[in-house]
Amino acid sequence: MKKTLIVVDMQKDFIDGALGTGEAVAIVPNVKKKISEYIERGDQVIFTRDTHSEDYLNTHEGKNLPVVHCVKNSEGWQIPSDIDVPTCEHIDKGTFGWDMWDAEIDRDGHISYRNFDEVEIVGLCTDICVVSNALILRAYYPEIEITVDASCCAGVTPETHKAALDTMKCCQIKIIGE
Ligand SMILES: [Zn+2]
Repeated sequence: MKKTLIVVDMQKDFIDGALGTGEAVAIVPNVKKKISEYIERGDQVIFTRDTHSEDYLNTHEGKNLPVVHCVKNSEGWQIPSDIDVPTCEHIDKGTFGWDMWDAEIDRDGHISYRNFDEVEIVGLCTDICVVSNALILRAYYPEIEITVDASCCAGVTPETHKAALDTMKCCQIKIIGE
């Protein structure tokens, strides 16, 4: 049984940069511990990165959230080196949810079906990108266990963090660490 940890958008801009919060800073030790556990067991870890262009303010997201963040290759776009594991897979996504979770693209550009047996999701923000990806994965893989560790997630506010956890519970995502 393959176990996969998806680390959502643990980038500087969401931790202590342009859109950082005290709650995001506070979960960093828990996220690091979680990643280490997966790596030590030999399980799979996939990192996602929110990725925008210089044209961010003209996008739909930018018009609704006019705070420039996660511009590709900027400092705020990086995952801090004490969290990142460069040898793991990284997915750069242009919006909240990644819509190709069921595809695996090899070095030659061949696309094959990607299968997950069990997925755990951690990262930022609970109420935007964590919930988006949890629900996309729920739709693609109705039969697998999907878990979100609340102690390794933070929302835009503590209230919307809690609301997103409740929404995910309703959609049969297992919530631990509350
Ligand atoms: Zn963004």
